[in-house]
Amino acid sequence: MEHPEGVILIDPGITKSSLAQVSKGMKIGWRMQVDKSIDAGLGEVGLTRSDVRWVVPTHGHVDHASGALEFPAAAVLVHGREYDYMRAFPWRVACPKLPRGWTPSLYDLERRPLGPFDRSLPLTDDGRVVFVPTPGHTPGSVSVVVRDGNDRALFFSGDHSASAEIFARECAEDRLIQLYPSPKQARHTRDRICGFRSETPTVYLPAHDPGAARRLETWETL
Ligand SMILES: [Zn+2]
Repeated sequence: MEHPEGVILIDPGITKSSLAQVSKGMKIGWRMQVDKSIDAGLGEVGLTRSDVRWVVPTHGHVDHASGALEFPAAAVLVHGREYDYMRAFPWRVACPKLPRGWTPSLYDLERRPLGPFDRSLPLTDDGRVVFVPTPGHTPGSVSVVVRDGNDRALFFSGDHSASAEIFARECAEDRLIQLYPSPKQARHTRDRICGFRSETPTVYLPAHDPGAARRLETWETL
């Protein structure tokens, strides 16, 4: 995201070494592969790694957070609750192996309500880019809300929801369709996001949703 205060990279992806580590431990029948390097992805929009000011993983899973290691000059911002989870979690396949000396900047969410969310934290001084708590997939997962000047919002939800369609059904049918490690937290999060989108036209953007890029391009709201 090219913001006047600096370039923000949400969910920087997976490093090659983390991918090799994950692939070695993978015994459950699914595979990850790298289709595009981070340099190629940034290059498509005329940017390089050194242009990135902030790297913000939504949560600690290796396919979202380990890419932060490729940005030594950027500020890597990690929710403190999620960092505790990353450090404590014993299954290294799921979380990047934290390298010695890796010191992301930790933040806590504050008692600053944003719609139905009781806590939040603005990233930018203009208050348009904000972290909100969306636990359920992991205990410290956050989403990044970006508000434009027309009272619309982009909602980068990380791994809360595999797709916007599934999420819309979860709201409409008042139930969880996909599996969450913490269904109780996921229900609470779903209710907050459902409430948010009923107040604000929202482009809902789960990280692994194949339709997210199109939705982002056309500002297609839920
Ligand atoms: Zn995840």
